Amino acid sequence: GRVGLGLAVGCAVVTCAIAAALVSRSVRRRWRWGQAVALVRELEEACDTPVGRLRQVVDAMAVEMHAGLASDGGSKLKMLLTFIDSLPDGTEEGTYYALDLGGTNFRVLRVQLGGKGSMILSHKVESQPIPQKLMTGTSEELFNFIASILKRFVQSDNDGFQQLPDVRKDLGFTFSFPVKQLSISSGVLIKWTKGFSIEDAVGKEIAQCLNEAMTKIGLNMRVAALVNNTVGTLALGHYNDEDTVAAVIIGTGTNACYLERTDAIIKCQGRLTNSGAMVVNMEWGNFWSSHLPRTSYDIALDDESPNRNEQARITGFEKMISGMYLGDIVRRVLHRMAEESDILLDPAKNLSVPFILRTPLIASMHEDDSPDLAEVGRVLEEHLKISRVPLKVRRLIVRVCDIVTRRAARLAAAGIVGMLKKTGRDGSGGVASGRTRSKPRRTVVAVEGGLYIGYTLFKQYLNEAVREILGDEVAPYVLLKVSEDGSGIGAALLAAVYSSDR
Ligand code: ADP
Ligand code: MG
Repeated sequence: GRVGLGLAVGCAVVTCAIAAALVSRSVRRRWRWGQAVALVRELEEACDTPVGRLRQVVDAMAVEMHAGLASDGGSKLKMLLTFIDSLPDGTEEGTYYALDLGGTNFRVLRVQLGGKGSMILSHKVESQPIPQKLMTGTSEELFNFIASILKRFVQSDNDGFQQLPDVRKDLGFTFSFPVKQLSISSGVLIKWTKGFSIEDAVGKEIAQCLNEAMTKIGLNMRVAALVNNTVGTLALGHYNDEDTVAAVIIGTGTNACYLERTDAIIKCQGRLTNSGAMVVNMEWGNFWSSHLPRTSYDIALDDESPNRNEQARITGFEKMISGMYLGDIVRRVLHRMAEESDILLDPAKNLSVPFILRTPLIASMHEDDSPDLAEVGRVLEEHLKISRVPLKVRRLIVRVCDIVTRRAARLAAAGIVGMLKKTGRDGSGGVASGRTRSKPRRTVVAVEGGLYIGYTLFKQYLNEAVREILGDEVAPYVLLKVSEDGSGIGAALLAAVYSSDR
Protein backbone atom coordinates (compact mmCIF):
# COMPACT_ATOMS: atom_id res chain seq x y z
CA GLY A 1 0.00 0.00 0.00
CA ARG A 2 2.77 2.37 0.99
CA VAL A 3 4.70 1.57 -2.13
CA GLY A 4 1.60 2.23 -4.18
CA LEU A 5 1.04 5.55 -2.44
CA GLY A 6 4.69 6.52 -2.83
CA LEU A 7 4.52 5.70 -6.53
CA ALA A 8 1.33 7.71 -6.95
CA VAL A 9 2.84 10.74 -5.18
CA GLY A 10 6.01 10.36 -7.19
CA CYS A 11 4.04 10.30 -10.44
CA ALA A 12 2.03 13.31 -9.37
CA VAL A 13 5.20 15.25 -8.58
CA VAL A 14 6.77 14.37 -11.91
CA THR A 15 3.55 15.25 -13.73
CA CYS A 16 3.41 18.56 -11.91
CA ALA A 17 7.02 19.26 -12.71
CA ILE A 18 6.49 18.50 -16.39
CA ALA A 19 3.35 20.61 -16.44
CA ALA A 20 5.16 23.47 -14.73
CA ALA A 21 8.01 23.23 -17.19
CA LEU A 22 5.59 23.22 -20.11
CA VAL A 23 3.69 26.18 -18.74
CA SER A 24 6.86 28.11 -18.09
CA ARG A 25 8.15 27.30 -21.57
CA SER A 26 4.92 28.43 -23.10
CA VAL A 27 4.94 31.56 -20.96
CA ARG A 28 8.50 32.24 -22.03
CA ARG A 29 7.65 31.59 -25.64
CA ARG A 30 4.65 33.90 -25.43
CA TRP A 31 6.83 36.51 -23.81
CA ARG A 32 9.41 36.20 -26.59
CA TRP A 33 6.69 36.46 -29.17
CA GLY A 34 5.41 39.56 -27.43
CA GLN A 35 8.92 41.03 -27.53
CA ALA A 36 9.18 40.39 -31.26
CA VAL A 37 5.79 41.90 -31.97
CA ALA A 38 6.64 44.94 -29.85
CA LEU A 39 9.85 45.39 -31.79
CA VAL A 40 7.99 45.36 -35.11
CA ARG A 41 5.38 47.78 -33.77
CA GLU A 42 8.13 50.11 -32.70
CA LEU A 43 9.68 49.89 -36.17
CA GLU A 44 6.32 50.60 -37.75
CA GLU A 45 5.89 53.74 -35.70
CA ALA A 46 9.40 54.96 -36.40
CA CYS A 47 8.95 54.43 -40.15
CA ASP A 48 5.54 56.01 -40.33
CA THR A 49 5.04 58.32 -43.31
CA PRO A 50 1.61 59.91 -43.07
CA VAL A 51 0.86 62.32 -45.90
CA GLY A 52 1.50 65.35 -43.67
CA ARG A 53 5.03 64.19 -43.05
CA LEU A 54 5.57 63.47 -46.74
CA ARG A 55 4.47 67.01 -47.56
CA GLN A 56 7.14 68.30 -45.17
CA VAL A 57 9.69 66.25 -47.07
CA VAL A 58 8.35 67.68 -50.35
CA ASP A 59 8.82 71.23 -49.03
CA ALA A 60 12.28 70.46 -47.69
CA MET A 61 13.30 69.02 -51.05
CA ALA A 62 12.08 72.10 -52.93
CA VAL A 63 13.88 74.42 -50.51
CA GLU A 64 17.15 72.47 -50.80
CA MET A 65 16.87 72.53 -54.59
CA HIS A 66 16.66 76.32 -54.42
CA ALA A 67 19.71 76.49 -52.20
CA GLY A 68 21.72 74.15 -54.43
CA LEU A 69 20.86 76.22 -57.52
CA ALA A 70 21.93 79.42 -55.79
CA SER A 71 25.55 78.45 -55.20
CA ASP A 72 27.92 75.49 -55.29
CA GLY A 73 27.99 74.02 -51.81
CA GLY A 74 24.78 75.85 -50.88
CA SER A 75 23.00 72.60 -50.17
CA LYS A 76 23.56 68.87 -49.74
CA LEU A 77 21.98 68.68 -53.18
CA LYS A 78 24.78 69.38 -55.65
CA MET A 79 22.36 70.43 -58.41
CA LEU A 80 25.01 69.84 -61.11
CA LEU A 81 24.72 71.70 -64.42
CA THR A 82 24.64 69.46 -67.48
CA PHE A 83 24.62 72.11 -70.26
CA ILE A 84 21.87 70.11 -71.93
CA ASP A 85 19.29 72.59 -73.14
CA SER A 86 17.53 70.50 -75.69
CA LEU A 87 16.13 67.00 -75.43
CA PRO A 88 15.43 64.50 -78.22
CA ASP A 89 11.95 64.80 -79.69
CA GLY A 90 11.68 61.96 -82.20
CA THR A 91 13.02 63.79 -85.26
CA GLU A 92 16.55 62.41 -84.79
CA GLU A 93 17.86 60.24 -87.58
CA GLY A 94 20.81 57.91 -88.13
CA THR A 95 22.85 55.29 -86.29
CA TYR A 96 24.43 56.22 -82.99
CA TYR A 97 26.53 54.38 -80.49
CA ALA A 98 26.66 54.79 -76.74
CA LEU A 99 28.62 53.54 -73.76
CA ASP A 100 27.16 53.16 -70.30
CA LEU A 101 29.67 52.99 -67.45
CA GLY A 102 28.75 53.16 -63.78
CA GLY A 103 25.86 50.69 -63.50
CA THR A 104 26.17 47.07 -62.45
CA ASN A 105 27.51 46.18 -65.89
CA PHE A 106 29.39 48.11 -68.53
CA ARG A 107 27.28 48.32 -71.69
CA VAL A 108 27.79 49.16 -75.33
CA LEU A 109 24.80 50.08 -77.46
CA ARG A 110 23.85 50.86 -81.01
CA VAL A 111 20.63 52.70 -81.73
CA GLN A 112 19.10 53.25 -85.15
CA LEU A 113 16.82 56.24 -85.41
CA GLY A 114 14.38 56.57 -88.25
CA GLY A 115 13.41 60.22 -87.88
CA LYS A 116 9.98 61.78 -87.42
CA GLY A 117 7.23 59.28 -86.81
CA SER A 118 9.32 56.13 -86.97
CA MET A 119 11.08 56.40 -83.61
CA ILE A 120 13.71 53.83 -82.62
CA LEU A 121 14.07 51.31 -85.45
CA SER A 122 16.31 48.95 -83.58
CA HIS A 123 18.76 48.83 -80.78
CA LYS A 124 21.40 46.38 -79.79
CA VAL A 125 23.06 46.09 -76.41
CA GLU A 126 26.08 44.20 -75.20
CA SER A 127 26.66 44.01 -71.49
CA GLN A 128 29.59 42.85 -69.40
CA PRO A 129 31.19 43.48 -66.04
CA ILE A 130 34.38 45.55 -65.85
CA PRO A 131 37.20 43.27 -64.64
CA GLN A 132 37.98 43.98 -61.00
CA LYS A 133 41.63 44.63 -61.83
CA LEU A 134 40.73 47.53 -64.13
CA MET A 135 38.58 49.21 -61.49
CA THR A 136 41.64 50.04 -59.43
CA GLY A 137 44.34 50.31 -62.11
CA THR A 138 45.22 53.30 -64.28
CA SER A 139 42.89 55.46 -66.35
CA GLU A 140 44.78 54.51 -69.51
CA GLU A 141 44.13 50.81 -68.92
CA LEU A 142 40.45 51.41 -68.25
CA PHE A 143 39.82 53.60 -71.29
CA ASN A 144 41.88 51.35 -73.58
CA PHE A 145 39.73 48.43 -72.46
CA ILE A 146 36.51 50.38 -73.05
CA ALA A 147 37.66 51.52 -76.50
CA SER A 148 38.62 47.97 -77.46
CA ILE A 149 35.20 46.59 -76.44
CA LEU A 150 33.54 49.36 -78.45
CA LYS A 151 35.70 48.62 -81.48
CA ARG A 152 34.88 44.93 -81.35
CA PHE A 153 31.17 45.74 -81.01
CA VAL A 154 31.25 48.09 -84.02
CA GLN A 155 33.16 45.57 -86.15
CA SER A 156 30.88 42.67 -85.28
CA ASP A 157 27.93 44.77 -86.29
CA ASN A 158 26.81 43.49 -89.67
CA ASP A 159 23.46 45.20 -89.87
CA GLY A 160 24.83 48.41 -88.38
CA PHE A 161 26.67 51.15 -90.19
CA GLN A 162 29.88 50.31 -92.03
CA GLN A 163 32.65 52.04 -90.19
CA LEU A 164 34.13 54.33 -92.82
CA PRO A 165 37.51 55.55 -91.65
CA ASP A 166 36.90 59.08 -92.92
CA VAL A 167 33.47 59.59 -91.36
CA ARG A 168 33.70 60.46 -87.72
CA LYS A 169 30.81 59.08 -85.69
CA ASP A 170 29.26 60.70 -82.65
CA LEU A 171 29.13 58.74 -79.42
CA GLY A 172 27.01 59.17 -76.32
CA PHE A 173 28.88 58.39 -73.10
CA THR A 174 26.95 57.71 -69.92
CA PHE A 175 29.42 58.08 -67.09
CA SER A 176 27.55 57.79 -63.81
CA PHE A 177 30.05 59.24 -61.37
CA PRO A 178 30.17 62.76 -59.96
CA VAL A 179 31.46 64.97 -62.77
CA LYS A 180 31.95 68.70 -63.00
CA GLN A 181 30.62 69.30 -66.45
CA LEU A 182 32.52 71.80 -68.62
CA SER A 183 30.30 71.51 -71.69
CA ILE A 184 27.84 69.01 -73.09
CA SER A 185 30.72 66.85 -74.28
CA SER A 186 33.30 67.32 -71.56
CA GLY A 187 33.64 67.11 -67.82
CA VAL A 188 36.11 66.55 -65.03
CA LEU A 189 35.83 63.57 -62.67
CA ILE A 190 35.29 64.78 -59.11
CA LYS A 191 35.70 61.38 -57.47
CA TRP A 192 35.10 57.69 -58.05
CA THR A 193 32.31 55.73 -56.35
CA LYS A 194 30.83 52.19 -56.62
CA GLY A 195 34.08 50.32 -56.11
CA PHE A 196 36.11 52.21 -58.73
CA SER A 197 39.30 53.79 -57.52
CA ILE A 198 41.65 54.96 -60.26
CA GLU A 199 43.63 57.72 -58.66
CA ASP A 200 45.12 59.28 -61.76
CA ALA A 201 41.70 59.83 -63.37
CA VAL A 202 40.42 62.14 -60.66
CA GLY A 203 40.54 65.72 -61.93
CA LYS A 204 40.93 64.56 -65.55
CA GLU A 205 38.63 65.39 -68.41
CA ILE A 206 36.82 62.11 -68.95
CA ALA A 207 35.63 62.50 -72.56
CA GLN A 208 39.16 63.39 -73.60
CA CYS A 209 40.51 60.22 -71.98
CA LEU A 210 38.07 58.17 -74.03
CA ASN A 211 38.63 60.19 -77.23
CA GLU A 212 42.37 59.58 -76.95
CA ALA A 213 41.92 55.85 -76.39
CA MET A 214 39.61 55.64 -79.42
CA THR A 215 42.08 57.49 -81.63
CA LYS A 216 44.90 55.22 -80.50
CA ILE A 217 42.96 52.10 -81.40
CA GLY A 218 41.89 53.50 -84.77
CA LEU A 219 38.24 54.06 -83.98
CA ASN A 220 36.97 57.18 -85.70
CA MET A 221 34.53 58.31 -83.04
CA ARG A 222 34.17 61.23 -80.69
CA VAL A 223 32.17 61.84 -77.52
CA ALA A 224 29.32 64.18 -78.49
CA ALA A 225 27.50 63.96 -75.16
CA LEU A 226 28.91 63.10 -71.76
CA VAL A 227 25.98 62.47 -69.44
CA ASN A 228 24.95 60.73 -66.28
CA ASN A 229 22.40 57.91 -66.15
CA THR A 230 19.51 60.08 -64.96
CA VAL A 231 20.05 62.44 -67.88
CA GLY A 232 20.02 59.52 -70.31
CA THR A 233 16.75 58.34 -68.76
CA LEU A 234 15.23 61.81 -69.14
CA ALA A 235 16.36 61.92 -72.78
CA LEU A 236 14.65 58.61 -73.61
CA GLY A 237 11.55 59.64 -71.68
CA HIS A 238 11.35 62.91 -73.61
CA TYR A 239 11.98 61.15 -76.90
CA ASN A 240 8.92 58.98 -76.24
CA ASP A 241 6.76 61.65 -74.65
CA GLU A 242 7.48 65.36 -74.90
CA ASP A 243 5.74 66.15 -71.62
CA THR A 244 8.57 64.38 -69.78
CA VAL A 245 10.31 66.95 -67.58
CA ALA A 246 12.10 64.86 -64.96
CA ALA A 247 13.73 61.47 -64.49
CA VAL A 248 14.33 59.32 -61.47
CA ILE A 249 16.55 56.27 -61.03
CA ILE A 250 15.80 53.79 -58.27
CA GLY A 251 18.17 50.85 -58.59
CA THR A 252 21.28 50.08 -56.61
CA GLY A 253 21.42 53.80 -55.86
CA THR A 254 18.98 56.62 -56.44
CA ASN A 255 19.19 59.96 -58.22
CA ALA A 256 17.07 62.38 -60.21
CA CYS A 257 17.35 65.14 -62.78
CA TYR A 258 14.87 67.60 -64.25
CA LEU A 259 14.49 70.43 -66.67
CA GLU A 260 14.94 73.82 -64.99
CA ARG A 261 14.51 77.37 -66.28
CA THR A 262 17.95 78.94 -66.73
CA ASP A 263 16.87 82.11 -64.94
CA ALA A 264 16.13 80.00 -61.85
CA ILE A 265 19.69 78.64 -61.86
CA ILE A 266 21.36 81.52 -60.07
CA LYS A 267 24.78 79.87 -60.09
CA CYS A 268 24.66 79.90 -63.91
CA GLN A 269 25.30 83.64 -63.55
CA GLY A 270 23.27 84.76 -66.48
CA ARG A 271 24.63 82.17 -68.88
CA LEU A 272 21.90 81.66 -71.42
CA THR A 273 20.86 78.59 -73.33
CA ASN A 274 18.98 78.44 -76.62
CA SER A 275 15.87 77.02 -75.04
CA GLY A 276 15.98 79.04 -71.82
CA ALA A 277 16.17 75.79 -69.88
CA MET A 278 18.80 73.32 -68.75
CA VAL A 279 18.78 69.82 -67.33
CA VAL A 280 20.04 69.80 -63.74
CA ASN A 281 21.43 66.62 -62.17
CA MET A 282 20.32 66.80 -58.56
CA GLU A 283 22.49 64.06 -56.99
CA TRP A 284 19.58 63.61 -54.60
CA GLY A 285 21.03 60.57 -52.81
CA ASN A 286 22.63 63.09 -50.45
CA PHE A 287 19.39 64.83 -49.60
CA TRP A 288 18.76 65.10 -45.90
CA SER A 289 15.95 66.63 -43.86
CA SER A 290 14.99 66.29 -40.21
CA HIS A 291 11.54 65.29 -41.48
CA LEU A 292 12.88 61.98 -42.80
CA PRO A 293 11.73 59.22 -40.44
CA ARG A 294 15.03 57.89 -39.14
CA THR A 295 15.30 54.76 -37.00
CA SER A 296 18.03 53.25 -34.82
CA TYR A 297 18.67 50.80 -37.68
CA ASP A 298 19.39 53.65 -40.09
CA ILE A 299 21.77 55.19 -37.58
CA ALA A 300 23.59 51.89 -37.09
CA LEU A 301 23.78 51.34 -40.86
CA ASP A 302 25.25 54.78 -41.22
CA ASP A 303 27.80 54.35 -38.44
CA GLU A 304 29.11 51.21 -40.09
CA SER A 305 29.17 52.55 -43.64
CA PRO A 306 32.59 52.89 -45.23
CA ASN A 307 31.59 56.20 -46.82
CA ARG A 308 30.37 57.66 -43.59
CA ASN A 309 32.34 60.85 -43.71
CA GLU A 310 32.01 61.28 -47.41
CA GLN A 311 30.59 64.76 -48.01
CA ALA A 312 29.85 64.86 -44.28
CA ARG A 313 26.85 62.72 -45.05
CA ILE A 314 24.63 61.40 -42.37
CA THR A 315 21.84 59.01 -43.23
CA GLY A 316 20.83 60.38 -46.57
CA PHE A 317 17.89 59.77 -48.77
CA GLU A 318 19.73 57.06 -50.67
CA LYS A 319 20.21 54.86 -47.63
CA MET A 320 16.50 54.86 -46.88
CA ILE A 321 15.43 54.29 -50.47
CA SER A 322 17.76 52.38 -52.74
CA GLY A 323 18.33 48.71 -53.48
CA MET A 324 21.83 48.77 -52.05
CA TYR A 325 20.46 49.30 -48.53
CA LEU A 326 16.85 48.09 -48.11
CA GLY A 327 17.86 44.47 -47.63
CA ASP A 328 20.37 45.43 -44.99
CA ILE A 329 17.86 47.48 -43.02
CA VAL A 330 15.59 44.42 -42.91
CA ARG A 331 18.54 42.24 -41.90
CA ARG A 332 19.31 44.57 -39.00
CA VAL A 333 15.74 44.36 -37.74
CA LEU A 334 15.72 40.55 -37.97
CA HIS A 335 19.08 40.40 -36.26
CA ARG A 336 17.80 42.38 -33.31
CA MET A 337 14.67 40.29 -33.24
CA ALA A 338 16.75 37.12 -33.08
CA GLU A 339 18.92 38.50 -30.30
CA GLU A 340 16.22 40.01 -28.13
CA SER A 341 13.33 37.69 -28.55
CA ASP A 342 14.86 34.40 -29.56
CA ILE A 343 11.93 33.56 -31.82
CA LEU A 344 14.22 32.44 -34.63
CA LEU A 345 15.12 29.09 -33.13
CA ASP A 346 18.35 28.50 -35.02
CA PRO A 347 21.41 30.38 -33.86
CA ALA A 348 20.91 32.83 -36.78
CA LYS A 349 24.62 33.57 -37.08
CA ASN A 350 24.29 34.67 -40.68
CA LEU A 351 22.07 37.55 -39.64
CA SER A 352 25.11 39.35 -38.30
CA VAL A 353 26.77 39.40 -41.74
CA PRO A 354 26.32 42.85 -43.36
CA PHE A 355 24.56 42.91 -46.74
CA ILE A 356 23.91 39.16 -46.74
CA LEU A 357 20.22 39.81 -47.36
CA ARG A 358 20.00 41.47 -50.78
CA THR A 359 17.00 43.59 -51.71
CA PRO A 360 15.63 41.19 -54.38
CA LEU A 361 15.31 38.60 -51.57
CA ILE A 362 13.26 41.09 -49.56
CA ALA A 363 11.04 41.49 -52.61
CA SER A 364 10.54 37.77 -53.05
CA MET A 365 9.63 37.30 -49.37
CA HIS A 366 7.34 40.33 -49.43
CA GLU A 367 5.58 39.16 -52.57
CA ASP A 368 5.23 35.54 -51.45
CA ASP A 369 1.53 34.80 -51.87
CA SER A 370 1.61 31.10 -50.98
CA PRO A 371 -0.64 30.25 -48.00
CA ASP A 372 2.24 28.82 -45.95
CA LEU A 373 4.79 31.46 -47.01
CA ALA A 374 7.00 28.79 -48.52
CA GLU A 375 9.19 31.34 -50.31
CA VAL A 376 9.90 33.16 -47.04
CA GLY A 377 10.93 29.81 -45.57
CA ARG A 378 13.16 29.10 -48.55
CA VAL A 379 14.95 32.49 -48.36
CA LEU A 380 15.51 32.13 -44.62
CA GLU A 381 16.85 28.63 -45.04
CA GLU A 382 18.99 29.11 -48.15
CA HIS A 383 20.36 32.55 -47.48
CA LEU A 384 20.40 32.83 -43.72
CA LYS A 385 20.60 29.15 -42.74
CA ILE A 386 17.60 29.54 -40.45
CA SER A 387 15.18 26.62 -40.66
CA ARG A 388 11.97 25.60 -38.94
CA VAL A 389 10.58 29.13 -38.73
CA PRO A 390 6.91 28.95 -37.66
CA LEU A 391 4.30 30.48 -39.93
CA LYS A 392 3.42 33.34 -37.60
CA VAL A 393 7.08 34.35 -37.38
CA ARG A 394 7.33 34.25 -41.17
CA ARG A 395 4.30 36.54 -41.28
CA LEU A 396 6.06 38.93 -38.95
CA ILE A 397 9.12 38.93 -41.21
CA VAL A 398 6.94 39.80 -44.20
CA ARG A 399 5.60 42.71 -42.17
CA VAL A 400 9.14 43.96 -41.57
CA CYS A 401 9.82 43.86 -45.34
CA ASP A 402 6.59 45.75 -45.91
CA ILE A 403 7.42 48.50 -43.42
CA VAL A 404 10.92 49.10 -44.80
CA THR A 405 9.83 49.02 -48.45
CA ARG A 406 6.77 51.16 -47.91
CA ARG A 407 8.81 53.89 -46.23
CA ALA A 408 11.35 53.79 -49.06
CA ALA A 409 8.73 54.04 -51.78
CA ARG A 410 6.81 56.84 -50.07
CA LEU A 411 9.96 58.89 -49.47
CA ALA A 412 10.95 58.50 -53.11
CA ALA A 413 7.45 59.71 -54.01
CA ALA A 414 7.93 62.78 -51.82
CA GLY A 415 11.21 63.47 -53.63
CA ILE A 416 9.44 63.31 -56.98
CA VAL A 417 6.69 65.67 -55.85
CA GLY A 418 9.45 67.95 -54.49
CA MET A 419 10.77 68.33 -58.05
CA LEU A 420 7.26 68.99 -59.31
CA LYS A 421 6.76 71.59 -56.62
CA LYS A 422 10.03 73.34 -57.48
CA THR A 423 8.94 73.61 -61.11
CA GLY A 424 5.38 74.62 -60.30
CA ARG A 425 3.83 71.40 -61.52
CA ASP A 426 2.35 70.16 -58.27
CA GLY A 427 -0.64 72.46 -58.51
CA SER A 428 0.58 74.78 -55.77
CA GLY A 429 2.17 77.38 -58.04
CA GLY A 430 5.78 76.60 -57.11
CA VAL A 431 7.98 77.88 -54.33
CA ALA A 432 8.98 81.08 -56.09
CA SER A 433 5.62 82.26 -57.33
CA GLY A 434 3.89 82.26 -53.97
CA ARG A 435 0.35 81.14 -53.48
CA THR A 436 -1.17 81.59 -56.92
CA ARG A 437 -2.46 78.26 -58.12
CA SER A 438 -1.64 77.45 -61.69
CA LYS A 439 -3.72 75.20 -63.85
CA PRO A 440 -2.20 71.71 -63.82
CA ARG A 441 -0.22 70.73 -66.92
CA ARG A 442 0.27 67.17 -68.11
CA THR A 443 3.58 66.14 -66.58
CA VAL A 444 5.53 62.95 -67.14
CA VAL A 445 8.34 61.65 -64.95
CA ALA A 446 10.56 58.97 -66.48
CA VAL A 447 11.52 56.24 -64.02
CA GLU A 448 14.22 53.60 -64.37
CA GLY A 449 16.11 51.17 -62.14
CA GLY A 450 15.86 47.57 -61.01
CA LEU A 451 14.17 48.32 -57.70
CA TYR A 452 11.28 50.22 -59.28
CA ILE A 453 10.91 47.93 -62.28
CA GLY A 454 11.45 44.61 -60.51
CA TYR A 455 9.67 45.13 -57.19
CA THR A 456 5.94 45.41 -57.88
CA LEU A 457 4.89 46.40 -54.37
CA PHE A 458 7.54 49.12 -54.24
CA LYS A 459 6.24 50.56 -57.49
CA GLN A 460 2.67 50.35 -56.27
CA TYR A 461 3.44 52.10 -52.97
CA LEU A 462 5.36 54.82 -54.78
CA ASN A 463 2.58 55.56 -57.24
CA GLU A 464 -0.02 55.50 -54.47
CA ALA A 465 1.95 58.01 -52.42
CA VAL A 466 2.44 60.39 -55.37
CA ARG A 467 -1.33 60.43 -55.85
CA GLU A 468 -1.92 60.88 -52.15
CA ILE A 469 0.43 63.86 -51.86
CA LEU A 470 -0.79 65.56 -55.01
CA GLY A 471 -4.47 65.06 -54.26
CA ASP A 472 -7.32 64.13 -56.60
CA GLU A 473 -7.29 67.38 -58.53
CA VAL A 474 -3.66 67.34 -59.69
CA ALA A 475 -2.78 63.63 -59.56
CA PRO A 476 -4.47 62.74 -62.88
CA TYR A 477 -2.09 65.14 -64.67
CA VAL A 478 1.07 63.48 -63.36
CA LEU A 479 2.29 60.26 -64.94
CA LEU A 480 5.21 58.06 -63.99
CA LYS A 481 6.49 56.17 -67.01
CA VAL A 482 9.12 53.46 -67.03
CA SER A 483 12.00 54.43 -69.30
CA GLU A 484 13.82 51.13 -69.41
CA ASP A 485 17.45 51.15 -70.55
CA GLY A 486 17.19 54.94 -70.75
CA SER A 487 20.60 55.28 -69.24
CA GLY A 488 22.28 53.94 -72.39
CA ILE A 489 19.73 54.56 -75.16
CA GLY A 490 19.25 58.12 -73.92
CA ALA A 491 22.97 58.83 -74.31
CA ALA A 492 22.79 57.69 -77.94
CA LEU A 493 19.78 59.97 -78.45
CA LEU A 494 21.68 62.89 -76.97
CA ALA A 495 24.63 62.12 -79.24
CA ALA A 496 22.14 62.51 -82.10
CA VAL A 497 20.80 65.81 -80.73
CA TYR A 498 24.28 67.22 -80.23
CA SER A 499 25.85 65.56 -83.26
CA SER A 500 28.33 67.77 -85.08
CA ASP A 501 26.61 67.12 -88.40
CA ARG A 502 23.16 68.26 -87.40
P1 ADP B 1 22.14 49.76 -61.44
O1 ADP B 1 21.45 50.63 -60.45
O2 ADP B 1 23.38 49.15 -60.92
O3 ADP B 1 22.28 50.38 -62.79
P2 ADP B 1 19.68 48.38 -61.79
O4 ADP B 1 19.02 49.62 -62.16
O5 ADP B 1 19.43 47.19 -62.65
O6 ADP B 1 21.23 48.50 -61.69
O7 ADP B 1 19.26 48.04 -60.30
C1 ADP B 1 19.75 46.92 -59.69
C2 ADP B 1 19.35 46.97 -58.24
O8 ADP B 1 17.94 47.01 -58.13
C3 ADP B 1 19.80 45.75 -57.49
O9 ADP B 1 21.02 46.00 -56.84
C4 ADP B 1 18.71 45.51 -56.49
O10 ADP B 1 19.01 46.19 -55.31
C5 ADP B 1 17.51 46.14 -57.10
N1 ADP B 1 16.63 45.14 -57.71
C6 ADP B 1 16.75 44.55 -58.91
N2 ADP B 1 15.75 43.68 -59.13
C7 ADP B 1 14.98 43.71 -58.03
C8 ADP B 1 13.79 43.04 -57.63
N3 ADP B 1 13.18 42.14 -58.39
N4 ADP B 1 13.29 43.34 -56.44
C9 ADP B 1 13.89 44.23 -55.63
N5 ADP B 1 14.99 44.89 -55.94
C10 ADP B 1 15.54 44.64 -57.12
MG1 MG C 1 21.02 51.09 -64.26
